[in-house]
Amino acid sequence: MTETRFHNHDACRQGCCGLCCTKIEDFGVTIGSTVILKNVNLHIHCGELTAIIGPNGAGKSTLIKALLGEIPHTGTLKFVQYDNGLLKAPVMGYVPQSLNLDTTSPTSVLDLFLACRSKYPAWLIRRKREVYKVKEQLDRVNAGHLLSRRLGALSGGELQRVLLALALDPVPEILLLDEPVSGIDQNGLELFYETVSELRNAYDLSIILVSHDLDMVRRYADRVVLLNKTVLMAGTPEEVLNSDVFFDTFSLRWQKEKRGKGGTAL
Ligand code: ADP
Ligand code: MG
Repeated sequence: MTETRFHNHDACRQGCCGLCCTKIEDFGVTIGSTVILKNVNLHIHCGELTAIIGPNGAGKSTLIKALLGEIPHTGTLKFVQYDNGLLKAPVMGYVPQSLNLDTTSPTSVLDLFLACRSKYPAWLIRRKREVYKVKEQLDRVNAGHLLSRRLGALSGGELQRVLLALALDPVPEILLLDEPVSGIDQNGLELFYETVSELRNAYDLSIILVSHDLDMVRRYADRVVLLNKTVLMAGTPEEVLNSDVFFDTFSLRWQKEKRGKGGTAL
């Protein structure tokens, strides 16, 4: 979809058809004697939403943690900007799968932002300008109305959008999202995907989203990576979600047979 939007021949020669991209080269994670990930090679293009799918235990969350540098890994992560020849570690934003919150705490969304951003304790200073800035940040993710809400009173979807707003300050070059497996209803999930989709276009972000919802992946992702210890397949949602390797990985052989007889995939 965006392959031609920033078409750049030098970039394409180097395997990245855009003004910038993130290259994950030969990533591997071994914990103790267990190989969790090996030979992971990916190009994540700017302005694209790349969904990572795979069965439970495939290593999706481990990949995100390794990219963030939270766990030791082999291989390299590079952010490449072709217009100025820059090659560096990318500025990253991260939205975790979940957050352990004390639901009885009086801490509000505004308190959280001020505590993260301000050099002063939140209860000492609440200048109008700072409050306005937080409201602006929340508006980016359709969450301005949550400014004064207690964190513990937010729904799963609302909390994810608040965390998304936090991950966007400063605006990262690559945004890593681990989709929550529980606590978000269908409307919340839809709004989350729509918001992420808008951000991708507005900020030309590279987005890596670990997803458990194949319907959302089909509708919103530009590229899909099927992961199970290593990259089994990468391509458009159409290519990956209709591939034999996808059906085999998720043990959906009966679906594959149905498809062969004229049924639709998933
Ligand atoms: P996914 O997110 O795809 O469900 P994970 O990345 O959480 O999978 O886990 C991948 C595999 O690595 C699983 O088999 C899990 O048990 C194992 N694993 C994850 N963290 C550790 C750890 N700290 N020590 C040992 N094994 C781990
Ligand atoms: Mg996980």
